[in-house]
Amino acid sequence: MDHESAQSPQRKSLSRGQLLIDGKWRDASDGATLSTVDPTTEGKIADFAKATLADVNAAVESARRAFETGDWPRMHHEARARILFRMADLLDERAEDFALREAMDMGMPYGDFVDIIMPHCAGLFRFFGGLAMHAMDGAYRTSYEAHTRILTRREPLGVVAAITPFNFPLALTCSKVAPALAAGNTIVHKPASDTPLTALALAQVALDAGVPEGVYNLITGPGGSLGDALVKHPLVDKIAFTGSTSVGQTIIRNGADTLKHTTMELGGKSPNIIFADADVDTAVQAAFWGIFWNKGEVCVAGSRLLVERPVYDEVVEKLARMAQAAVLGDPLEPQTHIGPIASRAEFDKVQQYVEAGKASTARLVAGGATRKINGKGLFIEPTVFADATNDLKIGREEIFGPVLPVIPFDGEDEAVRIANDTPYGLASGIQTRDLGRALRLADRINAGTVWINTWHKYHPNGPFGGYKMSGYGREQGAEALDSYTQYKTPTGQHCVRTAPARRRIATPLHWQTMKR
Ligand code: NAP
Repeated sequence: MDHESAQSPQRKSLSRGQLLIDGKWRDASDGATLSTVDPTTEGKIADFAKATLADVNAAVESARRAFETGDWPRMHHEARARILFRMADLLDERAEDFALREAMDMGMPYGDFVDIIMPHCAGLFRFFGGLAMHAMDGAYRTSYEAHTRILTRREPLGVVAAITPFNFPLALTCSKVAPALAAGNTIVHKPASDTPLTALALAQVALDAGVPEGVYNLITGPGGSLGDALVKHPLVDKIAFTGSTSVGQTIIRNGADTLKHTTMELGGKSPNIIFADADVDTAVQAAFWGIFWNKGEVCVAGSRLLVERPVYDEVVEKLARMAQAAVLGDPLEPQTHIGPIASRAEFDKVQQYVEAGKASTARLVAGGATRKINGKGLFIEPTVFADATNDLKIGREEIFGPVLPVIPFDGEDEAVRIANDTPYGLASGIQTRDLGRALRLADRINAGTVWINTWHKYHPNGPFGGYKMSGYGREQGAEALDSYTQYKTPTGQHCVRTAPARRRIATPLHWQTMKR
């Protein structure tokens, strides 16, 4: 779609969001609600249910019942796949409604969402639907022991609780829900309280696509209490979490007593390395969008820019010019590059980092101020600090906003040393014309993703996840299915007759229990 020439979509009012439990939409058991705020207008968008602990129990019990007695885990994989394909089609059909919700709720430019996020989300359901049809098969193996045969069978884990963050709420929910459903699990989703609107629409898509009642449940409300209850619940088998490293650590501790399966997609401080042999304009473009897309509220943002000295001044100058020229504004306006920070709390936090940068030895070359558009909104200018070092607060900590420290270096070894000098290991990037160098460095950098001469490329079939304090487990790709399945191993022996006069029976699998 040509968003420049399209008419701007209009804000719309949304009805109160409810909980989805056992296939029925309902209010919280005590009728309590929270509200979600549009960071562009700073006005309320909608109320949504604030679930009670009784609601958490009801949602988990519904998911458990659907898993133990319902059709979903026992359905033929192809039948499940058809429902996932239908979900993908409905996402395509409803793309504009999803984009409007995400623009109002999270401040993401509408056009970016329609062009990039929606195809990715629909692609996840198509990819995992396809995978369900062949990857859920078992195998037949010979054993090291004579006359023994092994069968393997891949089974779902059970009830998966998906807990998702305020940024990219739809994409990060789809990356959990698609493999979980494909494998035959049932789900309880708890979205972030700041951005619940696409989660409500996705749950409706699941119902409309024919996901059976009880398989897909949605609860909304405060992570501290509801999250704890979900994580400790004995009927929940797995927590699929994306969020901050500190909440991830709490979840791992809270889940230990009931030995929860967990996957952890956590924070990052990803290095983007520009070598002097790079195409500088392409590299600056990658650096700019690497940090400023979705106003830096991206776990894999290229939030440390390392630049080789021969091109350092040129890169800093071009980057500062781009940052000054970027259009901040209403995410529903087609000319907007950068929308508002998603919430007041995040806005305040990012501002503190901007002030820390100004007070440091780094040099502010662009941005550094907040803005209002038409007198409103939580806007922070794209901010670039040159001459930063990796030991500064802005060089070490995840800012999760449009703030970029630029660090000079000399040669590959220094680049690798600085890049790996971080507790995180989520993403990284190498901008160079030398493919040998790119591959050499890709081997040496400790991060789950290495982008070469680009940034922000996501693929339903490419495994995604972190090293070190950025977490473990993989989302997307066939590898993700491993996190939502477990293997069962029925093992059997031939019926071996010891009497020398008789020949061994050549039947491939002859259970001991069979009549001799
Ligand atoms: P967050 O504060 O950790 O919250 C994430 C989710 O956890 C929310 O739904 C939150 O609910 C819930 N929660 C809070 N306390 C909980 C508890 N004790 N038990 C269970 N759940 C709890 O993260 P955020 O601020 O929303 O998101 C930003 C962070 O996510 C950044 O660090 C970013 O790097 C990371 N992230 C990582 C990836 C990745 O793929 N690696 C992707 C995106 C974001 P409430 O909203 O109700 O508090």
